[in-house]
Amino acid sequence: MVSDKLAKLLILQDRDARHGQLLRQRDSIPAEREKARASIATEEARRKENSAALKRLEVQREELEGRVEDLEEAVRKYQTQQLQVKKNDEYAALEHEIATARAKISETEDDELTVLEAIDQKAAANKREEEEINERIRVFEGELKRLDEAEREVEAAIVAGRDAVTEAEAEVDPALVESYRFVKTQVKRPPYVVPLKESRCGGCHLKVSGEIESGARKGHEIVRCDNCARIVYFER
Ligand SMILES: [Zn+2]
Repeated sequence: MVSDKLAKLLILQDRDARHGQLLRQRDSIPAEREKARASIATEEARRKENSAALKRLEVQREELEGRVEDLEEAVRKYQTQQLQVKKNDEYAALEHEIATARAKISETEDDELTVLEAIDQKAAANKREEEEINERIRVFEGELKRLDEAEREVEAAIVAGRDAVTEAEAEVDPALVESYRFVKTQVKRPPYVVPLKESRCGGCHLKVSGEIESGARKGHEIVRCDNCARIVYFER
């Protein structure tokens, strides 16, 4: 008699465990979704930083170009002044200014070439990385889509699983269902119905009392572990 009741109770426990597993699966989805979204945000920040770095180089180039224009303007000014001065030493002084400005122009143009080269390199690197970033974003977006599908599937499985639990529960002796529900309030995780192994509870692994063991062995009634409250049975 007990073995038949027990068999039905074990079916309930199986379906209940499966249902619990589905609930945990569903609960893990938001965190996974957050992770994929954070990864996309990281990739987009990288793309933004790449374009900002290129922009900084371009600003630097414009500054150097402006400096060259200013120096060229100064040279023209000195040359105009040279046409107006009368004294040789004043003319020579302006000549010196012109030479200094031209040296600076040449130096600045060299710097500009260096920056231009850096711009080319950065632009090429950005283009390459852009493709990699897009590829990674595509993967994360695929992951988001997969999570949406998984969520829909698990929601449906939860509904079906809940029905299966209800069906199994209807087959079990009501007093036993009561007992099973009580165990669930006492024990955090399944299993709630466990076999005895060498006089030890298959859940908490502690030795049960002789009374409980003989009760389980006789199989006339359902007994519970005197340590953890799980329903224990003797495997034949
Ligand atoms: Zn126990």
